[in-house]
Order: sequence, then C-alpha cells, then structure tokens
Amino acid sequence: MKLYNTLTKKIEEFTPLNPPNVAFYSCGPTVYDYTHIGHMRTYINNDLLKRTLKYLGFKVKHVMNITDVGHLTGDDDRGEDKMEKGAKKTGKTVWEVAQFYTDFFLKTIKKLNIEYPDILCPATKHINEMINLIKILEKKGFTYETKEAVYFDVKKYKKYGALSNQKLEEKIKGAREEVYIDKDKKNPADFALWFKRVGRFADHTMHWDSPWGDGFPGWHIECSAMSMKYLGETVDIHAGGVDHIPVHHENEIAQSEAATEKTFVRFWFHNNFLMVDNQKMSKSLGNFYTLDDLKKHNIEPLAIRYLFLQSHYRSIMNFTWQSAKAAQEAFKNLVNKIIELKQEEKKLSLSKTDNKKIEDYKEKFKKAISNDLQIPEALSIFWSLIKSDLTPSAKLNLIYDFDQVFGLKLWEINHLIPEEIIKLANKRLILRQQKKFAEADSIRKEIKKKGYLIEDKIINNTLFYTIKKI
Ligand SMILES: [Zn+2]
Repeated sequence: MKLYNTLTKKIEEFTPLNPPNVAFYSCGPTVYDYTHIGHMRTYINNDLLKRTLKYLGFKVKHVMNITDVGHLTGDDDRGEDKMEKGAKKTGKTVWEVAQFYTDFFLKTIKKLNIEYPDILCPATKHINEMINLIKILEKKGFTYETKEAVYFDVKKYKKYGALSNQKLEEKIKGAREEVYIDKDKKNPADFALWFKRVGRFADHTMHWDSPWGDGFPGWHIECSAMSMKYLGETVDIHAGGVDHIPVHHENEIAQSEAATEKTFVRFWFHNNFLMVDNQKMSKSLGNFYTLDDLKKHNIEPLAIRYLFLQSHYRSIMNFTWQSAKAAQEAFKNLVNKIIELKQEEKKLSLSKTDNKKIEDYKEKFKKAISNDLQIPEALSIFWSLIKSDLTPSAKLNLIYDFDQVFGLKLWEINHLIPEEIIKLANKRLILRQQKKFAEADSIRKEIKKKGYLIEDKIINNTLFYTIKKI
C-alpha cells in the first residue's frame, strides 16, 4: 500500500514493522464540547484508512485517547483549560462535562458507522504513565522546572521541527509575539509537561500529586504515554488533523524520542481542514454543525459519511448545505439501486457470471484504495460497477465487498423494506395480471402513502416490480 507520510513529505510504500500487524494511534477528541462536522470528517477518514488496511489483509490494533484534562485553549500553553471552560459554561463539574461529551462523541461515531478503537483511553486514567515518562525526561536532562510548571526544553532536542519543517528560530520568533504567562519559561517554544496548581491554575479542579507538586499534566504528554503503553515505543501510523502538525505532533515526537531514543512514529497521517461555505469554522459563524443539526435538514449520518467519501483526505473540503443535500440524494439513490438489485436477484434466473469482469473491478478498486487512499476514485469505480451489465448477484457481492471499506452499512439494506409493503406489492401485481387496473392503482397509492414507490419493469418478457424508498 502506498501512503503519504507527513514526516518525509512523500508518498511511500507502507509496510508495518511487524507484518501483518499495524500499530495505529489516532488523536482523539477533547471532550469539552459537541462533536461537529469538522471532527466527523477527520474520524471518518481515519476509519477509511483503518478499513482499507484491514481490507488489504493487515491486522490493525487501534488506540485512541480521550483528552479530558490539560488541553488549553491555545495549543501552546496559553489560555485556560478547555475542560474547566466547558464546566463553567454549563454549570456542571469537569467530570460530568467529560462524561457527557465522551458519550456524545461515541454516539456520533456509532451513527457514522465508524469502527470503535480497540482501546479507548481517557487521559485522566493514565496520570501515572505520564508522570513516569516525565521522570525519564527529567533524568535525561530534557526538562526544567519553574514555579508554575515543568517544561520540555526544545533546544535540547536537536531534531525539533522536522515534521512541520519549521526552524526553531522561526517558531520562537512567531511565539514571541504571543502573550505568555510564565516569566521563567526559557523559550516560548518550550512546552509544559506538568502544570502546578498555582497562579492561574490555583483553582484547577482536576489535580494529582506528583514529584513536582500538586497539579495536572500538559496536553501533549498524554498521547506519548498512552501510545507507548498500548502500542510500544514505535508505532506504524499516527493520525490526526493538519492543525496538530506544528505544535501537538512536534511535541509528541520530541518528548517520545528524547525518552526512548527510538523512532516514535513511522508514518504520520494528517487530515486536511473542512471549510464551511468557504470559511473557516468558528464559534461566531455558528457553523460547528452536529448530527442533530444535520437531522434538522433531513440529512442522515450515513449520507454525511457518503459526502466525505467524495473528497480525498489530504485536500481541503468545502461543506455547504447544498453539497450535503446532494449527498443525501445520492445516498438514497444508492440505497434504491441496492433494493432494486436485491429484488432482481430473486426474480431473475441468472445468466452466466463474467468472472473476468468481477476480477477487473476488484483489481481497480484495490489499486485505488491502496494508492494513498484514493477513496473518491474507488467510489466512481463502485458506481460504474452498479451501472455495468454484470448480473445482480455478482454486483451485490462486489458492493458488499467494497462496502467493507466505505462503511455505508449497505448489507443492512437487505432488511429495509417491511414485509407489509412486499405483501401489498404482490397483491397489486396479481391484480395487474388480472387486468384489474383500478384496484391495482389504489394499492399503489396506499403503498406510496407508506413511503414507498412501486415501479413496473418487464424483464425477459415477464412483468415484475421494484420497490423504492421515497
Ligand atoms: Zn494527540
């Protein structure tokens, strides 16, 4: 499989360290607010990567963190803790906030048919692992302590900036223009491993004992500590959003490799931004749409998944309500095609299946997905298959096979049409065969009221019908 690696800025041949096993870590949500379409795109793309790897025969172990402490409003130690902010806003405790938004996140990914990670790990359950990692860094001389925090000294880690291609001097220059609070911090690019419960954090609700006093961990250390705990010192793929590249992921690399002296991540996989109406998503524009907002516009979760299949993970995507509606339409169309195929499959005596064509489709599909996840191309191969002259059963077999990657739950469409509707449709067919057209038509209307459309078809000189969802 070919995969773009942010570290080398090249598409490379992906092979895991211990084939066929793939150690896969993805940065999870900070659970202080609702999961919105920007998150959805990232988690769907990560899911497509995971499903593709599995389809190609790899065994994936997937670990995802839940950030429930230490993530400040600025990724670089500025601002307040996002969890505490969420608690203030809602009048709940930080623990309640974490639970509420974790549940919301899990419900969202379930509806989007995103596979659960093998291990889902909240930061607050791994404080000891983080403290131990900080202790190692301290012993090796990569840290220093101020009255307010323990910092990682980025100047001591020579390769700092390799992922984002940022020179440390530029980063320091950029950071100097920002206001930051701890006057004893040596260098603006240094980042906190541990915040003490003093000064601006004197009232911080979540806090633990540590060798550096009462306090809480910085955000970045959690991913290194949990990744190492569950996947070992080197992982094959680490995924996140492009916004993680300059700070969060640089810091993860620095602290991990300083501690272990080994490569932390072999392939970095980054999802590009989602824009809304050609603008960056923001609170003031009120465009952090959730699944509930989509529902109000009659857009199903799986139609949103379908929408995201149409753009490559490395390109910026623009969301509009028009594009969402078009995706809903296309998804419904797909569902109806499958319903139709299911019915034809039962009724038609099958002609000889063209094995060569089936293999060709499989080959093309595999080639697309294993070429740095060209899902949009795979989707167009999928549609050309549906429109091809292969038999319904051959098509359905391939559709279900490809859907292992797309994750549109197409298998379940088997059971979508209620028995009641099928009985009515059969009754109507008999009436038509008896030329009782008026009675047949009143049944058609009854079926329509119940949300289904009957279409007649003549295949091989035999009259039969297909049922579609309206
Ligand atoms: Zn992370």
